[in-house]
Amino acid sequence: MNIHEYQAKELLAKFGIGIPTGYPATSVAEAVEGAKKLPGPLYVVKAQIHAGGRGKGKFKELGADAKGGVRLAKSIEDVEKDAGEMLGNTLVTVQTGDAGKQVNRLYVTDGVDIAEEYYLSMLVDRASGRIAMIVSTEGGMDIEEVAHSTPEKITTITIDPATGFMPHHGREVAFALKLSGDLNKQAQKLSKQLYEAFTTLDCDMLEINPLVETKDGNLLVLDTKMSFDSNALYRHPDVEAMRDETEEDPMEVEASKYDLAYIKLDGDIGCMVNGAGLAMATMDIIKLNGSFPANFLDVGGGATTEKVTAAFKIILSDPAVKGILVNIFGGIMRCDTIAEGIVAAAKEVDLSVPLVVRLEGTNVQQGKDILANSGLPIVPADNLGDAAQKIVGEVKKAA
Ligand code: GDP
Ligand code: MG
Repeated sequence: MNIHEYQAKELLAKFGIGIPTGYPATSVAEAVEGAKKLPGPLYVVKAQIHAGGRGKGKFKELGADAKGGVRLAKSIEDVEKDAGEMLGNTLVTVQTGDAGKQVNRLYVTDGVDIAEEYYLSMLVDRASGRIAMIVSTEGGMDIEEVAHSTPEKITTITIDPATGFMPHHGREVAFALKLSGDLNKQAQKLSKQLYEAFTTLDCDMLEINPLVETKDGNLLVLDTKMSFDSNALYRHPDVEAMRDETEEDPMEVEASKYDLAYIKLDGDIGCMVNGAGLAMATMDIIKLNGSFPANFLDVGGGATTEKVTAAFKIILSDPAVKGILVNIFGGIMRCDTIAEGIVAAAKEVDLSVPLVVRLEGTNVQQGKDILANSGLPIVPADNLGDAAQKIVGEVKKAA
């Protein structure tokens, strides 16, 4: 799960990490009110969307030479003008895709006098099985470009979970940022606080770009992106409350309400499968037969008729879906339950695309009978290879 910059900064501040003072706003009046609480004379008005590259982004509704989604304002009047231009308009950045994202929220912050911009991020590094800290003196720019053309300017430090964060890790971070004196000490302290925040909050990614050195010699988090391990959210109701569903794929939001693991993909064959491994295998075999899956969907072990119906509706609400393949192994979940769910859902949603169903396992015969007697044009399949061939064939035939 991702959150907004202003929320991530609120969380980091709780760990003692330095951030510029700022106030979120959903209206021009609120933005002005926030700015008035700041000392001035420099303010920053920042679009809050779940995507980076805002500074270089462009608003669809404004001219090509209009300013982007992060604006320096030199007066309260400018804050008012910028807020008015940004709110409700669509910001397109390298990370949003061409459709862009509507800006519904701003963050008005105290303008910082920047001496240097650095980069610091943390992630769960699967290769080393550790949390990695990635630091570079080249912050503020496109870090992918730095990684590509000057990889020597990026330092990766991994932290053994058995020891946790040690003082030498902090020294390595400060050294990689080429800091000395008090700034060096600040970097050591900051990296320790970040590690604590990362592990305490069950993050899976935390990126600070830029981390700035101010002209008066302080390290501040100027911009941050934070994402969390969804499986650990139950431990952090305060973080879960920060979820902004308007920023997420509506179908994925709907799926999460029913506890369905759903991820939208680019193909045209909708899949409903139980178990993540079987779902992966199903997607593979669809590809092997020359088509592409429209989604990954794992209905889980103990699905009910209600859950199956919800899953069906979600798959069918995707206009790209030209056919559906249901592949269920009835272990914990019985095949007759699944069959009932399929029939109920297919009737309710007025099934308009070919449907191939492969059932195997507990109560398989009862399940097959329910499908056969349903009066619906369901194509039964006997095994996975047969099922994939049939659905790809049906979709081609219908096209
Ligand atoms: P992003 O474009 O989405 O990554 O948004 P950032 O928050 O990183 O802002 C983009 C750039 O705007 C930063 O790299 C800074 O150069 C500049 N910027 C942001 N806040 C301030 C500030 O308080 N003072 C100054 N001088 N520049 C800022
Ligand atoms: Mg940034």
